[in-house]
Amino acid sequence: MTAATIISGKQISEEIRKGIALEVEQLSKQNIRPGLAVVLVGDDPASHVYVRNKEKACQDLGFYSEVHRLAAESSEDEVLALVDKLNAQASIHGILVQLPLPKHIREKAIIDAIAVEKDVDGFHPVNVGNLVIGDDSLLPCTPAGVIEMIKRTGIQIAGKHAVVIGRSNIVGKPVALLLQRENATVTMCHSKTHNMAEIASQADILVVAIGRANMIDASYVKPGAIVIDVGMNRLESGKLAGDVDFESVKEVSGPITPVPGGVGPMTITMLMQNTLLAAKRLNGLN
Ligand code: NAP
Repeated sequence: MTAATIISGKQISEEIRKGIALEVEQLSKQNIRPGLAVVLVGDDPASHVYVRNKEKACQDLGFYSEVHRLAAESSEDEVLALVDKLNAQASIHGILVQLPLPKHIREKAIIDAIAVEKDVDGFHPVNVGNLVIGDDSLLPCTPAGVIEMIKRTGIQIAGKHAVVIGRSNIVGKPVALLLQRENATVTMCHSKTHNMAEIASQADILVVAIGRANMIDASYVKPGAIVIDVGMNRLESGKLAGDVDFESVKEVSGPITPVPGGVGPMTITMLMQNTLLAAKRLNGLN
């Protein structure tokens, strides 16, 4: 068997970012600069890293950006007041509230308060509803990145059997909906699924988002299948591992994403693309 092709999220991201940078340059001629506001509440170390990466992506691409770092003990009303202000601010086209929030703040209340047209995370119920219906909406970033990576393998999605393992609101469910939109036949698996290896090994496209390091080995994979690993698990050694046992699976699979360097880089790139799209729409373009 020939070695599986590695789908490089890093490389695809770079290609997409070049296109975004060109559009930013074009928009600047009309005095439009995409603007992203990130709200970070509390001291979660991982969240601080994610926010810094988003800030850097904005700088690299010529976006305007604001990062609002609020103390962990900030009240829900304080966060809501900030979201309201950003909703009304013309220089901001995308608002992202970094999750998780401290326990005393209801995530749903905050997400619901973000203006639908500035909801670049795609988590607002109206954007989720439009995704379900099949109407145009701002798509959640990680699922949008997953679909983009599958498309860039050049393998047609329509008519294929796709299996999605994991059914979270932020990854599994929207990935399944987007695959269905691309005319795949979709099966979803979760923690209560029986015979998961048998089901997964029928998939032409296998997307895994469960949060269990290296759980999916070659017995879950049909020879030649596309395998997308969304998992990001920090091992005791400090190393990052996916949900897929990359070493064994790449021996049987078709194109496969690595961790790191797979889905991860795509997520921020899709956030930038959403902010660009929101900026165009809020300025009556597109
Ligand atoms: P989540 O909210 O914890 O959901 C996990 C899903 O996996 C649930 O639907 C759960 O089933 C299912 N599951 C758990 N254990 C399972 C098992 N043994 N067999 C079958 N299904 C199982 O997680 P998430 O937010 O979707 O994230 C999943 C992974 O993706 C995590 O590693 C996360 O860090 C990573 N992630 C990466 C990015 C990125 O940018 N690369 C973005 C988001 C998430 P039930 O519904 O039955 O409980």
